[in-house]
Amino acid sequence: MTEWAQPLCPRCLEPLPAGVDFCPKCQVSLTVKATTDPYQGLLSERFAYREAAENPQKAIVVIGMWLLWGPRLLIGTALEMGFVVASVGALFEILIEDELTIAAVLETVVVFALAAVCLGFGLLVSGKLLYKTTRNYFRRENRSG
Ligand SMILES: [Zn+2]
Repeated sequence: MTEWAQPLCPRCLEPLPAGVDFCPKCQVSLTVKATTDPYQGLLSERFAYREAAENPQKAIVVIGMWLLWGPRLLIGTALEMGFVVASVGALFEILIEDELTIAAVLETVVVFALAAVCLGFGLLVSGKLLYKTTRNYFRRENRSG
């Protein structure tokens, strides 16, 4: 294929090598397989969320992101608080019942730490996405208006 006949990315105009499902430069999905394949679909979804967060063009994008990620953020926060209360309660129970062994304390701390890491990661992702989407939308509004 000659240089002038090479296909270009519809988004960033980067010349595309043959047979790629995603643009090597901007990662936009280029084929049906890129959105329907289970693994590649995840990459496409990630791209769409990132695009929505970094460059929200319309208010409906911001509303959609809040509808999608807002409940995850709320439920995640509630669960995280529940785990903190349950862990503190479990530690007090150990102290009150005079069963203070290193194993009992370690078990409680490890269970709490695992739950906190998993939930904390989810909170970080949804919180960061919502924060970025909202901030970038209003920055854009201020620039144009
Ligand atoms: Zn591209």
